[in-house]
Amino acid sequence: MSNSNRQFRLAARPQGLLAPGDLQFVETPIPPVADGQALARVRYLSMDPTMRIWMADVPQYMPPVAFGDVMRCLGLAEVMESRHSRYKKGDKLVGLTGLQDYLFIDGTENRPYQKVPPVPFMSDTAFLGVLGVTGLTAYFGMMDIAKPQPGETLVVSAAAGATGSIAGQIGKIHGCRVVGIAGGSEKCKWLTDGLGFDAGIDYKRSDWKNQLAAATPKGIDINFENVGGEIMNATLARMNLHGRVVLCGLISGYTKEQPSLASFGTVLIKRLRIQGFIISDYADKFAEGISQLGKWKAFGKLKDRETIVEGLEKVPDAINMLFTGGNIGKLIVKL
Ligand code: NDP
Repeated sequence: MSNSNRQFRLAARPQGLLAPGDLQFVETPIPPVADGQALARVRYLSMDPTMRIWMADVPQYMPPVAFGDVMRCLGLAEVMESRHSRYKKGDKLVGLTGLQDYLFIDGTENRPYQKVPPVPFMSDTAFLGVLGVTGLTAYFGMMDIAKPQPGETLVVSAAAGATGSIAGQIGKIHGCRVVGIAGGSEKCKWLTDGLGFDAGIDYKRSDWKNQLAAATPKGIDINFENVGGEIMNATLARMNLHGRVVLCGLISGYTKEQPSLASFGTVLIKRLRIQGFIISDYADKFAEGISQLGKWKAFGKLKDRETIVEGLEKVPDAINMLFTGGNIGKLIVKL
């Protein structure tokens, strides 16, 4: 075990994509573990678009990361040494580990780390993806807000990503016609041939809006929206009266100073119901979500895929991959 900890600290607020120097790579000594403390080795880091929001000084659902702080990040860490009553050596923990090699638990954390249960045939990384925040986001967005009914048409954007791929499959489980919007033919092929979506629309093709129209002959009843901007507006334009929009994310605007707005004229004319949500709203129901997602996965009704990048030093590039579409399924950095 090393006695120094490599970390990424926030040095500048990015303009657009992350640039070299926005995150500063530092090494700090690891203090000895005292009573009430524990030390865990970070094994996997979850790459989430919200990290780009945390880096910006804009109104948001958590305080922005301050200059000089270890960059906030969800991860999975294994306890190496513990003098903390809650954790023992070998425990695998999920929570805000930060972008670093070691998580030093000093006992002052406001919320405990969740222990990864030993589930047969389930990889640890599933607890950052299909059974983690992105799977749960898809689950509660679909089950609590969309409430899909058989025969309805669901359109999911960023459909080949971690959240969208699960949301679309939950729509299929509930008997919907599911259309995914994603960038590139490989992703669209995975949606239809790999996940059973009814259509995959490649928004990088010039005729994609015509394709969206052809794939939604009865209009759209539910939009699980991850992207915003032009993609959201094209989807809203095909919504049926009283359609439901699950506003999960607006990734096309996260790297922009002036994100484009949804066309509220369409919302009015079509009497749409739009509901935004943040997954932490459902924290007290996570066990229910994990249990149902786990059953669907175990019975082969839900497939998940991961893109794994190796090495802490690759994190800035990995974060940017989320905004350039370099990932299929859940993007994880393995340390
Ligand atoms: P993904 O795995 O979906 O990765 C992001 C994907 O977004 C990329 O692969 C890319 O795919 C697509 N994308 C990026 N920029 C654009 C753009 N300008 N136009 C169109 N597509 C784009 O990430 P997540 O599943 O983690 O997150 C998906 C969305 O869900 C995000 O908006 C995120 O903020 C939101 N989210 C919300 C939560 C909540 O609590 N409300 C919790 C977790 C996630 P492509 O190649 O198809 O362009």
